[in-house]
Amino acid sequence: MKQYNIAYLPGDGIGPEVSAEAHKVLAKVSSDYGFSLKWVEFPYGATHYLKTGELLSQSALTEMADCSAMMLGAVGDPKVKPGVLEQGILLALRFHFDQYINLRPAVSFPNVPLPIALPKGEQINCVVVRENTEDFYMGIGGRGRKNFQVPLHAKRALYDFNATLDVKLDQDIEMAIQLGAISRPGIERVTRFGCELAKKRGEKNVALVSKSNAVPHIYGFLDEVTKEVVAKEYPDLTLSVVNVDALCYHLARKPQGWGVMICPNLFGDIVSDLLAGLAGGLGVAAAGNIGDGLSMFEPIHGSAPDIAGTGKANPIAAILSAAMMLQHVGEDKAAAVIEDAVKAYLADAKLPQMPIEFGGSASCSNVGDMVLARIK
Ligand code: ATP
Ligand code: MG
Repeated sequence: MKQYNIAYLPGDGIGPEVSAEAHKVLAKVSSDYGFSLKWVEFPYGATHYLKTGELLSQSALTEMADCSAMMLGAVGDPKVKPGVLEQGILLALRFHFDQYINLRPAVSFPNVPLPIALPKGEQINCVVVRENTEDFYMGIGGRGRKNFQVPLHAKRALYDFNATLDVKLDQDIEMAIQLGAISRPGIERVTRFGCELAKKRGEKNVALVSKSNAVPHIYGFLDEVTKEVVAKEYPDLTLSVVNVDALCYHLARKPQGWGVMICPNLFGDIVSDLLAGLAGGLGVAAAGNIGDGLSMFEPIHGSAPDIAGTGKANPIAAILSAAMMLQHVGEDKAAAVIEDAVKAYLADAKLPQMPIEFGGSASCSNVGDMVLARIK
């Protein structure tokens, strides 16, 4: 029997609660479809950090590298200064394993309340392919006044970036500068990922979310290289370039009808949250951080300390992220079965069987059980 070692970080707050429901469902589909999952658990998160001062360890990273994928519950705790866990764990993992894609499907499910009602029979079913390492999220910049220097350093798997900016102002005013960079190999790999995904989904078009009219240096280059890759390597696909502002306007009026959207880091962050809101909210939004090495799957919500331990957490996002993980390791059939079970449960649930988040009375583990009961 095929066995996958899965690195598992339950984390904080509702992380372990929602992950437990995903595990229930995974145990069932793995036995039904003839593979097994071996969980390699790690303690990292706020509790471990507050107790030991450790965020991640080198030996853990080595152990994780041997796994087929990683599942993460959530990390975060109001007792830890904002940013410490995000940078020390989530971003550290992303950069260490060069997870250059943040994959965020936005799917509207039956009976899940939406802020904008869709015409009967129509569905939101798109996916944001967000570049995850470059653009304005490289953390390089600085501030000063009159005459100052800004050292610019970033270390990425693709390259080490080093520069110094000599700023001379004709007035003594304060100024802050943040640099975004986009590289040809960085664009190429995201474009290929988005196009492969579009092919797999049976789509004829991919969208590139850009803003080259106002930010011509980096997003003009982005448009150019993306067009080149699609024309040369994916002649069966058409590429539509859409400005991020226009996209937000269109999404607010008609969120359905989109497919694969390739986004640079900053726009991808914003557009994927907008779509998560439009498609039903945090309780159903899952994400994958994908690279050529270890990839990591997680619900997009945080640790939700306000509802931790109350049974109010909705585990569907965690269950859907488990399905994404199975798809990633090549268990497409088992992944589809999980998605279908979620759909079937939501479609038939009367209000009392719906998650508390959607006005129902089903607790976290009730929801997990009801999804489990629909696994075919
Ligand atoms: P973190 O710092 O860990 O990211 P956060 O403060 O950003 O946490 P989230 O944990 O993302 O916040 O939660 C935002 C709000 O959404 C909270 O009120 C939380 O209770 C609610 N929420 C988040 N996830 C879920 C879920 N799975 N089910 C129900 N409610 C949720
Ligand atoms: Mg958050």
